[in-house]
Amino acid sequence: MSSSVTSQAMEIQNYFGGAWHKSAATEFLDVTNPATGERIARTPLSTTADVGAAVQAAAGALPAWRRTPPGERIQYLFKLKFLLEDHIDEIARLITLENGKTFGEAKAEIRRGIENVEVACGIPMMMQGYNLEDITPGVDETLIRQPLGVVAAITPFNFPAMIPFWFLPYAIACGNTLVLKPSERVPLTMRRAIELIEKTGIPKGVVNLINGGREVVEALCDHPAIRAVSFVGSTPVAKHVYQRSAASGKRMQCQGGAKNHVIVLPDADMDLARQIISDSAFGCAGQRCLAVSVAVTIGEAQKTFRDAIAEAASSIKVGSGLDAGVQMGPVITRASKQRIESLIATGVSDGAKPIVDGRNLKIAGYENGNFLNPTILDGVPAASSLANTEIFGPVLSLIHASNIDEAIEFIRKSPYGNQASLFTTSGAAARKFRYEAPAGNIGINIGVAAPMAYFPFSGWKESFFGILHAQGKDAVEFYTESKIVIERWSKQETRKF
Ligand code: NAD
Repeated sequence: MSSSVTSQAMEIQNYFGGAWHKSAATEFLDVTNPATGERIARTPLSTTADVGAAVQAAAGALPAWRRTPPGERIQYLFKLKFLLEDHIDEIARLITLENGKTFGEAKAEIRRGIENVEVACGIPMMMQGYNLEDITPGVDETLIRQPLGVVAAITPFNFPAMIPFWFLPYAIACGNTLVLKPSERVPLTMRRAIELIEKTGIPKGVVNLINGGREVVEALCDHPAIRAVSFVGSTPVAKHVYQRSAASGKRMQCQGGAKNHVIVLPDADMDLARQIISDSAFGCAGQRCLAVSVAVTIGEAQKTFRDAIAEAASSIKVGSGLDAGVQMGPVITRASKQRIESLIATGVSDGAKPIVDGRNLKIAGYENGNFLNPTILDGVPAASSLANTEIFGPVLSLIHASNIDEAIEFIRKSPYGNQASLFTTSGAAARKFRYEAPAGNIGINIGVAAPMAYFPFSGWKESFFGILHAQGKDAVEFYTESKIVIERWSKQETRKF
């Protein structure tokens, strides 16, 4: 742990109107290092009045920012890209300290964040409207895209850098001003990112940060000056935020939880499947909304894949994410670890066999860390509550199906639709799967089908509430209002000149 974290950031502040402000909060949440259990900061659970001040700063900055040409607005993003590149190791360390994922995983997530900054630099092209002359003789019609106004983003703990950057660059490049609320469990990463954003010289009030929990979220949902809210988190909260913000007439995009299936056909390249599915299920300690959580095997894959994945899971080195050679870090909190262990127990009592059991792990030197080893539960009954519960930990359930139709049926019954994957060497099976699988992000021989920044992150069913997704062209549509102009000019006017 770096000393700057303990000394300077003990109590996190809010940032709005171009300055840091102490919150009026009377309640705080301890931020702990998941590998050591040490307290590294305190997040203020900011108040409705704090939110009001941040929104006022964003609203004050709006008129000038909206008039700043798009080509000028993106100059700050070009600067930000290079500042993030220059500080990537420092930010990755902060992510590992407060989230627990390995240093390598933390760097990879920042890369995905930077990718969004790069794509948003294309706003002068992406924000263009379109037009048609002579919709009737002498009358022309034009579509113009204009910024919405003040917008808010509310983000989860599992990607402290990447997920805020799914929203921030597009929102401001389109001419909006932003109030961001990161997860109260991981406030240090965006605090540092905001310091870098400040260094770009961006006008005060364009990007604002407010720390806190439920009260802040609800104040953002209710605030009449906020035009749109982007949310990522668990499904019950996504639904709540969607409904509450819709009640005050806001535009919404709310990404929720997941339970992702992978189907393994007997003709799959088993070496590839073993490696990629192991990375997907156990990478980031399973705390990814695109992590594979259920593997459905067909035919001989029941045995070949089971043996291969059990071997891969058993060889993963678990420990502190800053230690060399560690492949999987701890889960976020002690409560999360206990919850995951009790869900494994539910699966076992429902009849599943723990062929790799990661419970009760203690790591020497890190006795207070929230560690689990990877776990594989074989034969989880379809009726078990575990079959449809998001575990959000390093646990892979194995289910057997007699054919691909039956396997797709398992996916159809899931309330979630974030991702579904297939491992096969058959083009016909791949096409059938792509066509029929009821999920928004599809992987064919891919374990984490995470869309690049220039494509939308297309969750379905209970994994997404809204129409326009994060990233890509959807982001530009989400953060802009379309205006139609229909023009007729009298011919007599031209005779004057
Ligand atoms: P969470 O729902 O607990 O918190 C998300 C945000 O909502 C945080 O900023 C938090 O402060 C706020 N919040 C929490 N409880 C609230 C309440 N009762 N009322 C109002 N606001 C509240 O989620 P988390 O534990 O931080 O993140 C993990 C979840 O996020 C998982 O379910 C995961 O699948 C999901 N997730 C989804 C995606 C996606 O793209 N679909 C991506 C990442 C994470």
